[in-house]
Amino acid sequence: MKESPTTIQNTDGFAQAAEVYRRAKRAVALTGAGISVESGIPDFRSPGGLWTVFSPDKYATLDVFLRDTPKAWKLYRALGQSLEGKDPNPGHLALARLENEGRLASVITQNVDSLHQKAGSKQVIEIHGDHRRLQCIKCGNLEGIPEGILKSEDIPSCGRCDYPLKPNVVLFGEGVRDMDRIQEVIETCDALIVTGTSAEVYPAAGLPAIVHENGGKVFEFNVEETNLTRGGLLSQAVTDYFFPGKAGDTLPEFVNAVLRQS
Ligand code: NAD
Repeated sequence: MKESPTTIQNTDGFAQAAEVYRRAKRAVALTGAGISVESGIPDFRSPGGLWTVFSPDKYATLDVFLRDTPKAWKLYRALGQSLEGKDPNPGHLALARLENEGRLASVITQNVDSLHQKAGSKQVIEIHGDHRRLQCIKCGNLEGIPEGILKSEDIPSCGRCDYPLKPNVVLFGEGVRDMDRIQEVIETCDALIVTGTSAEVYPAAGLPAIVHENGGKVFEFNVEETNLTRGGLLSQAVTDYFFPGKAGDTLPEFVNAVLRQS
């Protein structure tokens, strides 16, 4: 049975957790929609957010794209517009700094907003794809997003085979991306920063448990506890250190504590 996580709320706590983190040979981060909330992009749960208008199970599925492509494009347009002009916040910048200082091997993100790359992270694995390109699910072609497409009613089609394109994001009902690489990264990591994810969408939600079972430490940053912190119906608690609060506040403080001890 896993013990309760240590909740970190003061400078001494940050220093102690940072000391443990620094002993890791290979640290990795797993991020979700919550890290981008402070950049103005709502997560699945924010009241009034995109996902309360476009319920993911009614719009973001492969089945809907195949049966009713214009309906699926309504969500893609709204999502694309909600990502336009957004900038990284101190949480993204803190992870980029950690990587640049040699203290973070890579970021596995569930986000499609490219804000980690914009912040300067180089090793970013986008498990749910990206919203920078359009994808043809028939021939595999990837294309840039044509000018004006988010404002028009047209559905773009593949330049190679003419099949309707969809943004290069993973829908419910599709396989996730780069799973072999993610498996390798997770199996060889002994410290995992988890931030801004409710840990409800699999397989990403199952990655912290692998690190925990291999004896690694899990550092979780979230405004509220999750299945990782307290255990869920099907999962046990795996978090070792829980940092309550906004990632834009807690991550920079943690990174400062890690680098202060360098
Ligand atoms: P989620 O919406 O299920 O959960 C978000 C989590 O972030 C919650 O646990 C919430 O408590 C936490 N959170 C909210 N604000 C925070 C903050 N300021 N600091 C720290 N934590 C905060 O998100 P998920 O687990 O990533 O799963 C939802 C799916 O939807 C994923 O595939 C995700 O990529 C996708 N999505 C992506 C974006 C994006 O690209 N920015 C936006 C919405 C949804």
